[in-house]
Amino acid sequence: MKKYRTAIILFVVFEAIAVSLWLATGNLFFLLNFTYIGTCIGVGGLLVAAEKKYAREFVQFGVGAYMLVFLGFICKENMQIEGFWYYLLSGVAGAGVLHYAIAKIFGPLLFGRGWCGYACWTAMILDLLPFKQPQGPRRKLGFIRYIVFAGSLVLVLLLMHFGKATAHTMFMLFLVGNLLYYAVGITLAVVFKDNRAFCKYICPVTVFLKPMSYFSVLRIRCDESKCIHCGKCLEVCPMDVEVNNDSRKRQNATECILCNRCKKECPVKALK
Ligand code: SF4
Ligand code: SF4
Ligand code: SF4
Repeated sequence: MKKYRTAIILFVVFEAIAVSLWLATGNLFFLLNFTYIGTCIGVGGLLVAAEKKYAREFVQFGVGAYMLVFLGFICKENMQIEGFWYYLLSGVAGAGVLHYAIAKIFGPLLFGRGWCGYACWTAMILDLLPFKQPQGPRRKLGFIRYIVFAGSLVLVLLLMHFGKATAHTMFMLFLVGNLLYYAVGITLAVVFKDNRAFCKYICPVTVFLKPMSYFSVLRIRCDESKCIHCGKCLEVCPMDVEVNNDSRKRQNATECILCNRCKKECPVKALK
């Protein structure tokens, strides 16, 4: 039962958010939306704990495709970073702000970069590519994320300043932004032979995710007294995390997406 605890806690947290927002706003959408996401995460978490194949992909597609297709394409909510800036600067607690607050700013204090491993619709596609283990050294290109982050803010400020930040423009920005992310993400994955190159060097959301996930309650722990330094965990890690070091300061600590690949490989069960 203990191994299912995290999945149950996450479901309860999302259900609490669903009910609180429904009661506070009277909007049934919040109840249905967060119940659906919480159920995907809860069921997926149970499957992950039971070590079922494709458990992570089940959650990733269940949440990622729902957000991209239903919330994005059908409901026309811009859930990209530009949508977040737009709602935030407009003083509206819209879906974009709530999404960022829960999944990408405050949520990571509890579940780290779980969003990146289990829900992101960009990574949902990138993870289908064949380069699951990076086939080269990590590059010093992480500075690009700050340029994209600042660029997205400046773009929204300019649109608002010139009165062009209409609902239609924000929706078009969502479509173009996603197409660009997929195009750049797939190109980088092929060039660097690394499915997660986009996440490591380009994604502006990591400007929020990395510092917050440093303090995450959920993290992969290593019992260093058990470790035999075989290096298998390091070989399979898609994010180059020095996971056989238990410290929060380990190399690339804030890159961990909680995919559990390292845990499955460890021959002495040193990783938990
Ligand atoms: S780093 Fe960005 S693109 Fe990659 S999984 Fe996280 S949010 Fe998605
Ligand atoms: S393999 Fe382990 S350390 Fe690497 S991202 Fe996945 S869970 Fe984190
Ligand atoms: S796979 Fe396990 S034993 Fe091997 S280096 Fe990693 S933590 Fe240590």
